[in-house]
Amino acid sequence: MRRKIAAGNWKMNGLAASLSELEQLASALPPHAPEVIICPPAPLLFRASETARGSAIHIGAQDCHMQDSGAFTGDISAQMIADTGATHVIVGHSERRAAHEERDRDIRSKAKAAWAAKLTAIICIGEALEDREADNTLDIIAGQLAGSLPDGMTATNSVIAYEPIWAIGTGKVPTLEQIVEVHDFIRTKLTIRYGAEIADMIPLLYGGSVKPDNAATIFQAENVDGALVGGASLKSADFAPIIMALAQS
Ligand code: PEP
Repeated sequence: MRRKIAAGNWKMNGLAASLSELEQLASALPPHAPEVIICPPAPLLFRASETARGSAIHIGAQDCHMQDSGAFTGDISAQMIADTGATHVIVGHSERRAAHEERDRDIRSKAKAAWAAKLTAIICIGEALEDREADNTLDIIAGQLAGSLPDGMTATNSVIAYEPIWAIGTGKVPTLEQIVEVHDFIRTKLTIRYGAEIADMIPLLYGGSVKPDNAATIFQAENVDGALVGGASLKSADFAPIIMALAQS
């Protein structure tokens, strides 16, 4: 049985007062909830880890540097993230690929740095609208998988999030058939590269405008093991129903 995961990416949103959302979410979770991960901005990682301690919520960062330490002003290493008590880190989010010109090979190095610090890497991939419109989606996904995923991937050290860029923060969601096609394709590629035993266990998340009213439909797909959620993860009143829909899927 693959584990189900609901991950929330707060992006550059949230101050100390937002930690009350974590407390509310923890108390709203059913006893056998799926794995829940909240990725707040870096300044909140330590306090979020303290707040979530003893609850079913895991804390993750939104990015890490590929080096352990050094002259990289403003960056944060995977070791530093682990030191806050966090257990996960997102790497290769499309906003970082775009705004920070991160390439597949950078993301591969970041995933390896995450593993070395004993963090689980949530590795993001996804096509742009022009790729989708030019019918190039699967080629783009294949290239990102080949370039961004390190050798040695397992279900313990990694989660993959498929996030079509045109669906992030736009309210546009691919059809269920489009989601199924890409998730099935990813599973096949993982099987070829890592073998069926490992590939079958790696959680694949869908991300892009997941909301309480569309989550149950998205979670119907066999190879969708959960979601990476942006906007709707900021309020526990929005995120809790998504987690419930995943628990019931
Ligand atoms: C994201 O940022 O990863 C994301 C999926 O955002 P949203 O849910 O707001 O589309």
